[in-house]
Amino acid sequence: MNAHDSERLAGILASVGFAPAEEMGQADLILFNTCCVRDNAEKKLFGNVGKLKQKKRQNKKLLVGVCGCMMQQADVAEKLADTFPFVNIIFGTHNMAALPEMLYAAIFLGERTLAVSDQEDLPDETPALRAKPPLSAVNIMQGCDNFCSYCIVPYVRGRERSRSSEEILREVRGLAKAGYQEVMLLGQNVNSYGKGLAENIDFAGLLERVAEETGMKRIRFMTSHPKDASQRMLDVMARHENICRQLHLPVQSGSSRILRLMNRRYTREDYLELIRRVRETLPGMTLSTDIIVGFPGETEEDYQDTLSLVREVRFDAAYTFVYSIRRGTRAAAMEGQIDEKEKQRRIVGLVDLQGQITYESNLAHVGRRELVLVEDESRRDAGHVCGRTDGGKMVNFPGEPSLIGQFMPVEITQAKKTTLYGRRIDGDTQA
Ligand code: SF4
Repeated sequence: MNAHDSERLAGILASVGFAPAEEMGQADLILFNTCCVRDNAEKKLFGNVGKLKQKKRQNKKLLVGVCGCMMQQADVAEKLADTFPFVNIIFGTHNMAALPEMLYAAIFLGERTLAVSDQEDLPDETPALRAKPPLSAVNIMQGCDNFCSYCIVPYVRGRERSRSSEEILREVRGLAKAGYQEVMLLGQNVNSYGKGLAENIDFAGLLERVAEETGMKRIRFMTSHPKDASQRMLDVMARHENICRQLHLPVQSGSSRILRLMNRRYTREDYLELIRRVRETLPGMTLSTDIIVGFPGETEEDYQDTLSLVREVRFDAAYTFVYSIRRGTRAAAMEGQIDEKEKQRRIVGLVDLQGQITYESNLAHVGRRELVLVEDESRRDAGHVCGRTDGGKMVNFPGEPSLIGQFMPVEITQAKKTTLYGRRIDGDTQA
């Protein structure tokens, strides 16, 4: 979501005459787009902004701005403004559209802006300066009404607001025409899509229309809340080949007691039943998840429940986190905060377990033929390109940059912990 916000910020800047600098030393404007979901980002931001003090002394015309959801927390925005008087522009997620006015005030009037609004929202069709094809992202909704007890998102991104289906379809059609082969439909909880709109549509309905009416070759989406992931959505996925066989379903904990404290509104059993339905409807689906360890009050037994769920589901991948206090959330005030050392022990155990399962899941691909959409040159292996399978597995194989943007049939020859390796199957279009 933040990466796509950065594309929209770049789009706003391009519309008023800015262009990307080759490197930071050449920039007239340095803008930090922040995220506050985890607390170490805050420390990093203050360190990185502090480093610019010297640059500002040397170049009086240099503009420095900080935006994003971390600035949506008024106390953090004020602390940043007090600590670094040289920062010209500070604004929250709801003030993005006013960036040209803030730049005008900074450049022509020498004025500093601190704008953190609860109300003003981003117009839906803000121009985005996108990365080159083949991958694109489109916001279908903003905000979240779920208030999971550990999460700051509903406070900084506001209530759920969906874009109209016509606007979304127009944007995806335009991307397909411009040569983008894959789109990621984005929302904090995509399954809530459509609530509050005048038209009668839900996420399954939108997904079906995007699959049928836009010409987009591959469609992915994130994030789905397990409590709202409907059978209708799974059926739509099963009916359309251009919707990728990949689902991210954050479980967060394998203990029903902790899930209740997290306000997730499903139990361990509900989640396992959902996974059973997913696998029944869409065999071979790639499944990934998010898991938090060390939530307040998490006992050894709760932690073992998480490990046993991971063993039972065998996710292809998991994003694992140590619980960190986010000020203003309900969990921040809960008793039974877990000691940092203990949290570290738990995360290490979880990462080891999931790492082994991911490796085994990758190994099972060796010998298979996959259709890979080539995204880029490999950063690790010279003379290789990389891209993803329909299920979202990253594959490296020997190839020239001219393949970027093409679908290539590839035979998987080797599996590593996070990546697959393969070879091109020339002349074969059936993967
Ligand atoms: S559903 Fe996701 S974004 Fe919304 S409160 Fe829960 S964790 Fe945060």
